[in-house]
Amino acid sequence: MTETIEEFASVDKPPSYYEKLNRDINELNNRLHAFNLLSKIDRGVPFSVKDNICVNGVESTAGSPILKGYIPPFDATVVEKIKQASFSFIGKTSMDEFGFGTFGINCDTPAKNPFDEERVAGGSSSGAAVATAILKHHIAIAESTGGSISAPAAFCGVVGFTPTYGAVSRYGLIDYANSLDKIGVMARNSSDLRYAFDIIRGTDDYDSTCTNRAIENFSTNKLTVIKELVENVDSEILEPFNSLLDTLKGQGYSVEYKSLEILKQSIPAYYIISMAEASTNLAKYTGFKYGHKNMEFTENYNLFFTNSRTAFGTEAKRRVILGTFVRSASVKNRYYFKALNIRNTIIAALKETLKDSLIISPTMPVFTPKFSEVKELTPVQNYSMDAITIPPNLSGLPHMSFPYTYLNGMPVGAQIVTDHFNDYALISFLEAWEKSFKPKFKYNIGAI
Ligand code: GLN
Repeated sequence: MTETIEEFASVDKPPSYYEKLNRDINELNNRLHAFNLLSKIDRGVPFSVKDNICVNGVESTAGSPILKGYIPPFDATVVEKIKQASFSFIGKTSMDEFGFGTFGINCDTPAKNPFDEERVAGGSSSGAAVATAILKHHIAIAESTGGSISAPAAFCGVVGFTPTYGAVSRYGLIDYANSLDKIGVMARNSSDLRYAFDIIRGTDDYDSTCTNRAIENFSTNKLTVIKELVENVDSEILEPFNSLLDTLKGQGYSVEYKSLEILKQSIPAYYIISMAEASTNLAKYTGFKYGHKNMEFTENYNLFFTNSRTAFGTEAKRRVILGTFVRSASVKNRYYFKALNIRNTIIAALKETLKDSLIISPTMPVFTPKFSEVKELTPVQNYSMDAITIPPNLSGLPHMSFPYTYLNGMPVGAQIVTDHFNDYALISFLEAWEKSFKPKFKYNIGAI
């Protein structure tokens, strides 16, 4: 049995191996809908790409009907890099429209959780997590604005790694909120994660926010639990999390508790900033250069524009309206600028804590919900599910969700956060954790 991508890459595979791989994925995808679009492969290691990241010549819709038929004439920088490293493109993974969501349901055909198909896969990178959970040797390129890599990774029992903002180029990403978006990786183990991160990170002439700064590995055995991150967690998730802390203490970590009141403002600050940016990003989908064209343009601009924008889903429309409101002249000081100040205070508070420790918490506050349960949530209840993943995202801090136990057959994930550009500390933490915990998968397509 080969476990890692490096081992897998060194083994010769006959054409029949890839024929079976393509067949098996196609069959399972009809049920789970990990992919919006599948491509046949006949060599190399498969990699998938979230549908909001451009792949040359391949329809890239960001999960939105408004981009139906958009075929980018170029590769995103991450895609170009990974292709050069002899990976083969296997498909575009399904997602919440433009990344707007936590459960993967804000799209035409939601991905299903491979461990229980009545339950959600998590979002917005739902398909990326499902693809990782069903394919043994594979790398998923995903994206997070406020937790979109962590949430589905936790619900599907895979590792979700969101690097420091600026460590990986965003060129070729269909933006949700530019000051928050990060491209990252989902994988099954630390070795594959390190392998992929080493390929995709680094400076890019096409992205001025992407830096060449060295990535460090300052490791510590001090873990901090922040009260505000665990206080609203359901008891069925808190109990196993406390057992995880005991296990980690037994492995030589120390655990400290602390309160950071300002984190209570994370959700409003995040949703104000992200919606403000999203509403400006979505302004270009007018049916002229970008977006859906329902009718021929005559002289009525408003009618043409409005007609084109009916293609947005409900959540996208909500965000355009709220985002436009919070940055409008009469209220921007009350909402948008206040949120920016809060973000700065949160960054300072977290960085102070991260000087000599890692921050640990559950990834999600609830057990993986059923589709029927998620449909009952109000928008505000929905947004509150991001309470734990938002603080590191709002701060551009590297973080990772890793599987650590199973409850009633469903995987449960924990989140670990470190300081900016100390990303390797997370991978090292995972390496150590893997010595005592082996994740389980229901499907192992492509195993050799
Ligand atoms: N759930 C969050 C939102 O809807 C985060 C999504 C993301 O990271 N793309 O904004």
